[in-house]
Amino acid sequence: EVSIFWFRRDLRIEDNHGLWAALRGDQPVLPVFIFDTDILSRLPDTSDGRVEFIHQAISKLKLAIQARGGDLCVLHAKPLDAFKELSTRFKIAAIHCNADYEKYGCVRDESIRAWADANQIDFYSYKDQVVFEKSEVLSGQGTPYTVFTPYSRKWKEQLRIQPIQQFPSETIEHYAPGSFELPSLASLGFRPSGLTFPAAQVADTLIQHYGEKRDFPALPGTSRLSVHLRFGTISIRSLVLQAVGKSEVWLNELIWRDFYFNILHHFSHVSEGHAFRKEYDRMDWRNNETEFEAWKQGQTGYPIVDAGMRELNATGFMHNRVRMIVASFLVKHLLIDWRWGEAYFAAKLLDFDFAANNGGWQWAAGSGCDAAPYFRVFNPALQTKKFDGELTYIRHWVPEFQELTYPQPIVNHEFARERVLAAYKKALAKV
Ligand code: FAD
Repeated sequence: EVSIFWFRRDLRIEDNHGLWAALRGDQPVLPVFIFDTDILSRLPDTSDGRVEFIHQAISKLKLAIQARGGDLCVLHAKPLDAFKELSTRFKIAAIHCNADYEKYGCVRDESIRAWADANQIDFYSYKDQVVFEKSEVLSGQGTPYTVFTPYSRKWKEQLRIQPIQQFPSETIEHYAPGSFELPSLASLGFRPSGLTFPAAQVADTLIQHYGEKRDFPALPGTSRLSVHLRFGTISIRSLVLQAVGKSEVWLNELIWRDFYFNILHHFSHVSEGHAFRKEYDRMDWRNNETEFEAWKQGQTGYPIVDAGMRELNATGFMHNRVRMIVASFLVKHLLIDWRWGEAYFAAKLLDFDFAANNGGWQWAAGSGCDAAPYFRVFNPALQTKKFDGELTYIRHWVPEFQELTYPQPIVNHEFARERVLAAYKKALAKV
């Protein structure tokens, strides 16, 4: 008899809540990872860097588990089929996993829970991906926060009441013996992306100077940990412990991450394609396909926008300040539905995370909780002056920006500004 620990967005052996709980149980643990065919078949690009990232992460995980007397069983199937198949090979007492908060993950987990119930298998889920989940941080009236500052204040208060507890899963050796093949990337239908992945650690000095440097895309002033937080190759608890007392600004960014998960949990309409503020769904978007293509390719004639899009296309990453600029540009200068931009980021970002991405796009569109007001239209020239004054970032990604071959601005800034203000006013005035 075994208990299964099912790895998903928590691809590490250290400080893994669900793994720790499983290893402390009576049965030896069979660790499992499933390459979900439902997810993989939806990825249009066979060189998607995220599949490669996961493949590398589970290869490391497999070695770490082998060193502790077990092995990672890796399957390529629909999750329910994978569990049915495992149940023919093993007598399963329980399935343990860490909670997922995205819609797809919640529906998937409910179906596995129902199957487990029907087969007398216990199903346990733990909080691991966030510091505070669901209803742990609520206002005095017991309602969810929709504004960041009071949420973060309450979050910090909660941290004093409920300090971080780590789960030393790496110290327990209670695995079921076994030996399994690791499917190659090619056998999954993918090939290497050619992208480089950042290290899974952040220096104390970066955290200490984060507040002064984080807004300048030419500087290595941010952690680049987002892909690791996305796939759980680093523990959020260890990062919060490292952050406390070093930089309030940095800690706040980690709190933004929890904040958007909190929004997703309490306001499920945002995962159904709706604006957080529903009146913004009345906008008449222009949705010009040629302009959308120019934006995607980094050919708008606005160097800071084009630099950001080219960074995204080449690396799977974009600096946060530039994400805000390109998102605002798509929505406000080109009057293209923010959902188009959200979908493009979802396809391209290594760190794509539904909650943060949807939150970021709705922030830019003015339709989100605690969003930039609709009448605040970023001026790309002023943003460049403030955050890339020496043009270092632009020169790197758009070296031809002063040459004749570089496109003329796709739209005039002042004209676009007036146009979008009128469009928002019209939408918000409708009854
Ligand atoms: P750092 O500045 O070093 O911050 C540390 C960590 O804090 C990040 O890794 C991230 O996990 C978290 N964080 C920082 N800022 C935010 C934020 N605004 N919201 C939520 N978490 C945050 N982040 C994603 O992880 N996935 C996305 O799909 C995503 N899409 C975005 C779309 C738009 C339009 C915008 C404006 C922002 C988006 N962000 C997203 C938030 C932010 O841009 C990235 O988290 C950040 O740029 C990642 O770089 P870093 O790891 O160097 O961050």
